[in-house]
Formats: sequence, structure tokens, C-alpha cells
Amino acid sequence: MQFIYSTWPSRVVFGAGRVRDVGEEVTRLGVTRALVLGTPSRAGDAEDMASALGDLAAGVFAEARMHTPVEVTERALAAVRETGADGVVALGGGSTIGLGKAIAFHTDLPQVAIPTTYAGSEVTPYLGQTEAGEKTTLKTPKVLPETVIYDPDLLAALPATVAGPSGVNAIAHAVEALYAEAANPITSLMADEAIRRLAGALPAVVETNDADARADALCGAWLAGVCLANVGMAIHHKICHVLGGMFELPHADIHCLMLPYATAYNRDAAPEAMARIAAALAAEDAPTALRVLSLKLGRHTNLKDFGPTLADLDRAADLAIRKPYYNPRPVDRDGIRAMLAAAYEGAAP
Ligand code: NAD
Repeated sequence: MQFIYSTWPSRVVFGAGRVRDVGEEVTRLGVTRALVLGTPSRAGDAEDMASALGDLAAGVFAEARMHTPVEVTERALAAVRETGADGVVALGGGSTIGLGKAIAFHTDLPQVAIPTTYAGSEVTPYLGQTEAGEKTTLKTPKVLPETVIYDPDLLAALPATVAGPSGVNAIAHAVEALYAEAANPITSLMADEAIRRLAGALPAVVETNDADARADALCGAWLAGVCLANVGMAIHHKICHVLGGMFELPHADIHCLMLPYATAYNRDAAPEAMARIAAALAAEDAPTALRVLSLKLGRHTNLKDFGPTLADLDRAADLAIRKPYYNPRPVDRDGIRAMLAAAYEGAAP
């Protein structure tokens, strides 16, 4: 066995009601005027947060959008300058947290991230950005939030149609960590636990919005995010990246649909990972169990529903083999095209 293990420093404050500690956490970072970030549809939450912060708030910028468009970042940087902010509080899902990271990339301002979905980006050094429709991803410790507050109460308002796929997005980080090139005993342990917690809790989250289940799922999402941060991702993330970029599909929905198919692509090439995923899901076959979960938690049963044509699948396969990520099974065009065809029809993975 050979491996290198390294991790990223960030402070995690976890628990129901802990959002009340935000002022203390902001001050702990030496921030005196934080710009509060949010999305347009949750601007009220950002306003409430700024009110709760009182003099520690410099203002609110609630224009975050999926995949961090650079024009939004430019407006946010102008807001930082105009308000004299010396830190950010990002309250929201991966889109809002992405905006906080983009501000930190340009300014090095400290960030408190307060996730309200299960996407996991708050603990990663990655920033995905879009410019003129093209998505690029960079990796630097500069964008890693210094402090993360996980408060499961904040996810109570998350609609089941967002919560379920967002949770499967988190499971995808853990699944791919188990067959990653840099897999190591620690991240694999975290991945097992992330899959077990998320898969165990998410059905109750979407069915009854149970508070304990929400906490369990959020803890799983944190562990999955740490996996994503510490080992590289493979064909599943690559294909979601390609499909998301081509069709502007909702990030979490496409992860939710594709995960069983991408896992099936690697079924024979990563037997140990398959056994661990299956064990965490208390099932026989990992891709089949993931398909059951995806149908229970997601809105889409096939790729066709998202709107692509068969010709689009050819284009997606071409893009997926360009600059491929490491993958346990070599990435070949015919194999990828067959995986996409199965997802297109919603066939058994
Ligand atoms: P999102 O942040 O786009 O949120 C989805 C929708 O849900 C938004 O309209 C948002 O306002 C709403 N919402 C969020 N929390 C809510 C709540 N608690 N109650 C009600 N509504 C709520 O979705 P996401 O899936 O969390 O993030 C997707 C983005 O994150 C993508 O841009 C993706 O690329 C990025 N991402 C990045 C990383 C990374 O490591 N860099 C990891 C995962 C995801």
C-alpha cells in the first residue's frame, strides 16, 4: 500500500441553532464588516442575517448564481469596495458559497460559509467559474472558507426537490473518492460513513423533513465534501461537468440522475470500491442500489427528459474524452456513449 494523505485547514462548527454563533465566528476571524451573500430567491435570509450581525454587517449582495458567472463576481467585488467590507458571510448553497470563494480569490478576504444545501463546496479549495458560457475550475487554498457553520435548522426550508438531488450530489463525492487515484485509508473511511449517513437519512429528509435526519445528512455532506477536497474526482464528475455546461442543467439534478450510470461504468474496474459502496448502502450491487436511491430522491428518471437529442450525446461523449480525469476504467468514447445512452433511456445501470 502506498499513499499520500494531506488535508485542508478549516474550522467547522456543527449543530442545530449554531447559526446564532455567526457574530462570534466573524469576530474570531478579525472581521469587523462582513458582506452577506445570498441568491435572489433567498435574499430575505441574507437580509435577516445582516440584521442579526448588526454593526458587523457591511451590507448584502444577494445576486449569486449557479457556476459563479464572472460578471456576478465583478458586481460583488464592486459591492465589497463600496461597502468597505473586510470579510464575507456566504449563506446558501454551492452557488452562494462559490461567490464567496470568488471574492476571496480576488481579495483574500476571510470567509464564513453557512451552507443551506448538501453540496459540500464549503470545505473544498475548488472554484468553478463561468465566462461566456465556458466553465473553468481552479484549485487554491485562497478560496477555502476559513470557517464553516453547519446548522441543520437552516435546511428545513429546502424543498424536497432540491434536498434529495443535492444529497445525491454529496454521495457522488464519496463514491468517487473510493476509487480515486489518490484514495487513502482516511478519505475512504470518511467516504463510507458519508454514503451510509446520507443514504440512510435522505429518504426521511425528503419524506418528512425530520430534524435528526437533516442533521445526519448534513454531517454526511460535510464528510463527502472533505473527500471531494482531498482526492480527485473521476468520470462521474467529468460527465456531469460536460452535461451541465452543454445544457445548463441544474447541477444537483444531473448528479442525481447520472451517478448510478457512472458507477456502473466503473463496476468491473473498481471491485473494492463497489463492495464498500454496496456495504454502505446495505445492498448487493452498488450501481443498482444507487439507481433505487436516485429514483427515490430525484425528479428525473432519464436524461431524455432534460432535453438533449441523440446527437447531443455524441457531442457530450466527444467532450468527455477530451482532457479526461483519472478514472479506474480507461475513458473510451464508445463506453461513454453507451453510458449516456443507458441514462438517456433510463435503463437499468
Ligand atoms: P444552489 O446553491 O444553486 O441552490 C439551489 C437553489 O436552492 C437556489 O435557488 C437557492 O436559492 C435555493 N436554496 C438554497 N438553500 C435553500 C434553503 N435552505 N431553503 C430554500 N431554498 C434554498 O445549489 P447547490 O446544488 O447547493 O450548488 C450548486 C453549485 O455549487 C454549482 O455551481 C456547483 O458547480 C457548485 N459546487 C461546487 C463545489 C466545489 O467544490 N467547488 C462542490 C459542489 C457544488
